[in-house]
Amino acid sequence: MSHLLKKEDVQLNDCLICYSAKERGIHVIGSFICEECERKMVQMNVEDQSYSLIVNRLGKIRDRLRQEGNGEVQS
Ligand SMILES: [Zn+2]
Repeated sequence: MSHLLKKEDVQLNDCLICYSAKERGIHVIGSFICEECERKMVQMNVEDQSYSLIVNRLGKIRDRLRQEGNGEVQS
């Protein structure tokens, strides 16, 4: 077994979309979206197969927003 990851100061976040632990990305209302998925979301079009999947997962953020009751949904 090799331990290649020694950067303990790097904080990994679980991406909401791809469920991978990533270092870089954006935080949206307590949820994390990695750089890759953010880029995908920007580039994809509505007919894209992954679009509905991502929209579905983003819906979870909206649900959380509603639960917290601060209703500031940016579109
Ligand atoms: Zn991701």
